[in-house]
Amino acid sequence: MKHHGAGALREPYTRSVGTHIDTELVRIDPVHPDPGLIARAADYIRRGLLVAFPTETVYGLGADALSEAAVDRIFVAKGRDPSDPLIVHIGDLAGIERVAIDVPEAARGLVEAFWPGALTLVLERAEGVAPAVSAGRTTVAVRMPSHPVARQLIEAAGVPVAAPSANRFMRTSATTAQHVVEDLDGRVELILDGGPASAGIESTVIDATGPALRLLRPGAVTIEEIRRRVGVKVLVDSQHSGASPGMLARHYAPSTRLRLVGGDEQALAGAVEEETWQGHRVGVLCTDGEAAAFDRKVVVERLGTELEEVARDLYAAIRRLDAAGLDVIVVRDYGEEGLGRAIHDRLRRAATPLA
Ligand code: AMP
Ligand code: MG
Repeated sequence: MKHHGAGALREPYTRSVGTHIDTELVRIDPVHPDPGLIARAADYIRRGLLVAFPTETVYGLGADALSEAAVDRIFVAKGRDPSDPLIVHIGDLAGIERVAIDVPEAARGLVEAFWPGALTLVLERAEGVAPAVSAGRTTVAVRMPSHPVARQLIEAAGVPVAAPSANRFMRTSATTAQHVVEDLDGRVELILDGGPASAGIESTVIDATGPALRLLRPGAVTIEEIRRRVGVKVLVDSQHSGASPGMLARHYAPSTRLRLVGGDEQALAGAVEEETWQGHRVGVLCTDGEAAAFDRKVVVERLGTELEEVARDLYAAIRRLDAAGLDVIVVRDYGEEGLGRAIHDRLRRAATPLA
């Protein structure tokens, strides 16, 4: 891998599995990104190349959403199932016209309140969008990110940018450029390192194509916040999130077994003790307040005190524990209020064993 280099553009992409791409990793100021670097990254996007970039939710793996060949490369790089549709990112409101046919009345309040931001809307797809983006559907998921690097990159590219999380299929989403390197080195042309993502958890996905707004995936924007700020009700299925395509029962899973404990701190301590008794090497993910309960035999990852902090560091902490040579990672559930809903959703999938 090259760091900071100017880097000539590479050969046109070939689909062969063995293709190795010389990935460039470049640091970028997250608040005032260098315009020259943005222009170069935008040029890569326009040429159908892959650029990983920071957003306020997690790192995205971007490609020109209007080019079937470019979008195809995202699936190959991630090893993502072609039935799992991608989110298209726009730089400004005008950009929506090239992606979706129309924003229904019911969704307009959401756009006004939460764009730019961590809310994704599923809408009827406009013609120019590469069909692979939608995995065969007539709908498309759209979001306007707030991160300056993401916004400026999309605007400079002049095309909507399809960008799923920049990690290999089934792994936890990348929240730092280092995670992107771990998963995608040799598979993408450019990684822009703008520091850790601030939300640390993916966007909330809402289906706005039906008669009522429906939650497809809980995420960084909570349904309580939507109710409070827009006054609309979002339907939540009893299965609460599995409605979205690609939301597999097992996902975000470390290779180490993950044990999700329902209940309070005592339940967490009990589960850790039980695993330790069985001779297992145990890692625990917990809040700062809970950490004191564990002795030195246990590898502790503290996630802070607020749910925002838990969400921000969750994926990174899971990756750290996964690399620590443990038998089990124990974590407790933080309920389903507010951000707890998205955290619960991800932990439940991460704890699902391989079928
Ligand atoms: P990510 O991997 O974070 O890019 O998230 C993409 C997810 O957004 C998919 O796995 C789906 O759950 C959801 N999504 C994308 N496009 C659609 C669509 N057209 N209809 C419903 N859900 C979608
Ligand atoms: Mg993902």
